[in-house]
This record gives sequence, structure tokens and C-alpha cells, in this order.
Amino acid sequence: MTRALNILQETFGYPAFREPQAAVIDAVINGDDALLLMSTGGGKSLCYQIPAMIRPGCGIVISPLIALMQDQVAALRQLGIRASFLNSTLTAEEVYTIESSLRHGELDLLYIAPERLNQNRTLDLLQTVSISLFAIDEAHCVSQWGHDFRADYLALNQLHQIFPSVPRIALTATADARTRSEIIDNLGLNNAHQFVVGFDRPNIQYRISLKTNPRNQLLEFLKTEHPSDAGIVYCLSRKKTEDTAEWLSKQGFKALAYHAGLTPEIRAEHQRRFLTEESVIIVATIAFGMGIDKPDVRFVAHLDLPKTIEAYYQETGRAGRDGLAANAWMVYGLQDVTKLRQMLGQSQGTEQYKRVEQIKLNAMLGFCEISTCRRHALLAYFDEASREQCGNCDTCLVPVETWDGSDAAQKALSVIYRTDQRFGVGHLVDVLLGQETDKIIQFNHHQLPLFGIGTELTAKEWQSVFRQLVAGGHAIADADRFGGLVLTEKCRPLLRGEQSIQFRKDPVQKTAKKLTKTPLPEDIDIALWEALRAHRRDLAEEQGVPPYVIFHDSTLQAMTELMPTTLEAFADLPGVGIRKLDKYGQGFISVIKQH
Ligand code: ADP
Ligand code: ZN
Repeated sequence: MTRALNILQETFGYPAFREPQAAVIDAVINGDDALLLMSTGGGKSLCYQIPAMIRPGCGIVISPLIALMQDQVAALRQLGIRASFLNSTLTAEEVYTIESSLRHGELDLLYIAPERLNQNRTLDLLQTVSISLFAIDEAHCVSQWGHDFRADYLALNQLHQIFPSVPRIALTATADARTRSEIIDNLGLNNAHQFVVGFDRPNIQYRISLKTNPRNQLLEFLKTEHPSDAGIVYCLSRKKTEDTAEWLSKQGFKALAYHAGLTPEIRAEHQRRFLTEESVIIVATIAFGMGIDKPDVRFVAHLDLPKTIEAYYQETGRAGRDGLAANAWMVYGLQDVTKLRQMLGQSQGTEQYKRVEQIKLNAMLGFCEISTCRRHALLAYFDEASREQCGNCDTCLVPVETWDGSDAAQKALSVIYRTDQRFGVGHLVDVLLGQETDKIIQFNHHQLPLFGIGTELTAKEWQSVFRQLVAGGHAIADADRFGGLVLTEKCRPLLRGEQSIQFRKDPVQKTAKKLTKTPLPEDIDIALWEALRAHRRDLAEEQGVPPYVIFHDSTLQAMTELMPTTLEAFADLPGVGIRKLDKYGQGFISVIKQH
């Protein structure tokens, strides 16, 4: 383990291990199998990279993300680690060169796509060389229960038989209990040490508000908090991603669309620009993201509601992998729920599947409507205990006011019932407010005893009541009836006035201003920061790698704080190992000195 700590400090430039890196590394160095469940950005990679450097032979990393192998390998080479990858993008000649260095024991790490690994040719090759370990990245792909299942992953089971003495380490950021047990079963990891690290992402600030004018809301958020940051904006439809990207470009942002309907070339190009340029915003459907390893994504914005809390967690989790402050921002409305329900109704799934998805969607809406800490609720959803107040979500920062809505709930539910559970919120509100619209007259609803009994609240407030009743599972927006609200069993005690209910007041203030917490420290020397970034950009362009491969933002930030002017002081910065000190120390020091 002394060796491991040395590598951490000298090669990677970090002072100490995080939990539970040391224990994982120890197990793998000793030749044991391991399963590591750790949130994105937690630091999983080191857990196989360091053992691969210490154990004799080459470490084989199985990763489904061909597009990312190149960057991962580039980042390792920057550190002086002998890494390569084998995938379908290489020429025969390149493959030959890599295989030959593998045979000659000149590689510490080799990244391989699963479909390639499973070829007999590759397996034969691997049996003739010395292998230090197998790292199975994104191990949840082996689970049929999860959403990223890949048949190629199932075949990885054979590694165990073919290479019984080579330790295997499986890694994932997404695994509920069921997925975890499938990973263990399908990969034969019954004797593996299990390391489970919580789901919390403390550097991500969660904020959710009502959709009023989504484009303006997004624009204000971007302008005040992320004027030149890289980020992802998620939308439900392909068309909307294109429209939004175009509109953002007109507003002066570098915005690119990404969805499954674009040609593979355009998609690859947009992903490449997102990874290699700075300040690029990707406007995407959920087709974008799996394994996006870009560490400096500063925000993830949702213009539409994700289908499930799991999806929300995954998508927002792409922000802030480098550990610096990042925002998860969302606007939502009841119309999102109706739309998602319609899509679900038309989908091919079984009734059972649809029922589960409905429940999950409702949980997602409920999550939006809570008046308590978002993080606490999110972690509780994954069965993880946490503090009641995190201090870094909208409800902690600007506490939500609540009011006794028992009376209003009773009226709202009664209106649904008395109009035969067929009408949407707009019409129901008209009944409560006593509006004599054509539709009201047409259905004779002005004759109802309830007509006009709700004038104590505004139309907006009634909309909020209905939304919260849906979020609480007291009513459902029925897709088959064009979003008409239908009562559920759960509403009975409220309807009868036997139960009280608290509603959250929709915040009226503009939350963005109040919450502004830019990723950069307030007292940062902006001029120096920009000068360092420009220097990093030049270096990156010279070598054709993404800027973060040179240094992460956190290292640049430390430069602005400590302003090292000697190589000795420079070596103390986090993320500066021997190789990078050698290669880049002088250059950055000159920028600092000039400044
Ligand atoms: P994961 O694969 O779990 O999403 P990574 O392995 O990419 O996370 O690590 C996330 C970030 O944390 C990287 O920038 C990595 O260099 C950094 N990191 C990992 N371990 C440490 C450590 N012990 N000290 C400081 N930074 C670390
Ligand atoms: Zn909180």
C-alpha cells in the first residue's frame, strides 16, 4: 500500500485516498475480486488504475463507451501511464502495434470494448500475455433489470473461467439492490469484496421551479450563473432540442442539439465539440449522456420533467464530476406529466410495466412538489439516510412556505367528482371560480352547487392545488382522457374532510438571483483565471486533447489561490504529478508571474 500511496501522490498528484479507495486497491492488489458501487465523480477509476500499475502484467479495462476510450487513454498518457485502447475505430496497423506492445509487456492498461473482448481472437491473445486484472466498467450493463443492458456484458462471465487467477473488479454508479445482485450473479462475483458508497453528490445544488416562461427562465439562469460554462439542457422531444439549441445560439451561447434522429456523424461531431471545446451547451434528449465523462459540466438543466427519479438522478449526476460546485436546475409543470403519461400509454410495454412507470412518474412529480430538503428526499428514495437539511438545495436555501390546504383540497376533489372525472385543470378551475365560459354552459356546469365556490384563491393558486393533489397521488391526470383528472382511493379521507393537508406556496420571488452561487469562488482573480484557461486551451489544441486532460478546473482554481511561482510550490497543487509538473509547470508559472 505504500507503493499505492506513492503512485497516488507522484503520478496523480493527489495527497490522500478518498473513502474507500485504499481498501478497494488493497483487495485487488491481493488478487481478490471486488464490486465497487460509488456515485459518479467519486473516484472509481483509480481503484483499478493503481493496482494495474502495481501488479505484474497489463490491466484490461472493459468499457462500453468507445467514444470515451480515446480521452481516457489520453488523460492517462498525460500522467506518464502506458495506456492504450482496442476498438473498432482503429486501423489494422494500429491494432497490430498495440497488440505487439501488449505482447512485449509494454502496457499498464488496455481499454477494450466488450464485443471485441469476447472475440476468440482477443481471448486467445490475452491468454498468451500476463494480465494484472480485469476492470469491468459500467457493470450495471450486465443487468437485464437496468436500462443499459448489453448482451455483450453477459459473456464477460467467461473471464472467470478462462482466467481463474486474475482478479476482477466491477464498477458502477447506478445500482439498486436488484441490479447489484444481478451483477454478482451474472459475473460470478459471489466472493467479491463489496464496497458501497452513498449516492450523495454534495457539490450539486438541486433546484426545481414551476414552468412559467421556460425559455426566459433558462436564459436568466444561464446569464446570471453560467454565462460561459459547459452544460447540458435536457428536453423531451427531438424537435424541442433543435429549436432550443437554435434559440440559445441566437442568444449568444454555443449550443448544439443532440438526439437519436441526427446522423451518427453529426452526433459524433457535437459530442466531440462538447468534450474538446470550452463553454459548449448540449441540448439533448436522453439519448445523450451515458458515460459522458467530461468532468467540468457545470450545470444540467431540465426543460421537461424526467420520467423517473432514477433518470433525474442519472442525468443531473453528469454535472460536477470534478467535485466543484455545479447546478441541477429544472422547470416543470403538470402538462409535462400529462405528456409523459400519453407517451407511456402509447408505449409497447406490458400493463405491469406501465403501472410501475406510472408510480415512478408520480414519485418524480412528488419530488418536485415537496417543501422539505430535496437532497434528503432524493437520498431517501435510494434508501440512504441523510441529514434533514442539506443546505445546498432550493428548499434549504429559500425555505418554502406552506399553508393548510384541507378546505381547498376538499373543494378541488369535489369538483373533479361532480364533473364526472373527465376534465382537465383549466376547466375545473373555471368551475371553482364561477367563470361562465362556453364549455361551462355546454356542460351545464354553472348549475352545479359547487359553481363559484372557490373565489378565495386565484386561478394560479388553484392550479397549484390540483398539481399538488396529483403529486400526492390523490388524483391522476388520465392520458386516455386527454389529461382529465381522475380520483384515486387515496383521496377519500381528504374528500370527506377527515384528514388535513399542507400545500407548498409557489415561490413568487425569482429564485435565481437569491441562490446565485457560481462555481467559481467569489474572490477569484478573474483575469488570472482567464489567462490560465487560455494557456490550457493552447496546450490542449496543440495536442488535440480536451482541456481537462491537461488540468482540471480544480487545479487551475488552486493556481489562482496559491499562485505558485516555483516548481516546488507548483508540485503541491492537487492534480499535479511528476509528469505534468515536468511538462507544464514552467508554462503555467510564467503565466502566473506575468500576471
Ligand atoms: P468516477 O469514475 O467514480 O466517476 P473518476 O475516477 O473519474 O470518478 O474520478 C473523479 C475525479 O476525482 C477525477 O478528477 C479524479 O482525478 C479525482 N480523484 C479521484 N480520486 C481522488 C483522490 N484520492 N484525491 C483527489 N482527487 C481524486
Ligand atoms: Zn437541502
